[in-house]
Amino acid sequence: MSSNRIRKQQASLAKQPRQSEREFVSGESHYFWGKRYLLEVIERHGKHELIIKNNKKMKLFINPKTSKANRELVMNEWYRQQLKARIPELLEKWQPKVGKTVSTWGVKKMKTKWGSCNIAAGSIWLNLELAKKPPECLEYILVHELIHLHERCHNDRFRARLGQVLPQWKLYKNILKSEPLGVCPRTKN
Ligand SMILES: [Zn+2]
Repeated sequence: MSSNRIRKQQASLAKQPRQSEREFVSGESHYFWGKRYLLEVIERHGKHELIIKNNKKMKLFINPKTSKANRELVMNEWYRQQLKARIPELLEKWQPKVGKTVSTWGVKKMKTKWGSCNIAAGSIWLNLELAKKPPECLEYILVHELIHLHERCHNDRFRARLGQVLPQWKLYKNILKSEPLGVCPRTKN
């Protein structure tokens, strides 16, 4: 390849947006608990629905002419349900180990954080995007936020508590760090 062509190719690569935009159309890859699924969009009249098929396909049933924004909404709602179904058993497991009980918890979209907490209110929030990561990442963030109910800052006491209950926490932290928020893993179909 001529150096000129290489330069041109590099320039065009640099122009590509770093985040692969999702259109919520058939053929796209979407993630759930760290696993990649191929999206199949099926238009039909009736209830909006998302079904996992054969451990490799996500079937999204939507009404004809559903906008991209609404397709995204249906998927996010599904992710929210999956997270909400998993969190109670994790709280049951971890609250006694950490020695704190939450008053309320919730799931929300956050742009810069995987989780947050309100120490005074005793509540924790988990990022919706965690449904796309390996389940251990949700567990790590949940434990992390629970420990914040003891320690506001990431100080030595915080890390000691974390290391005591979840010795392998750095592994999960690194998984989340390797795929920053708002950046989807590259789609290769
Ligand atoms: Zn923290």
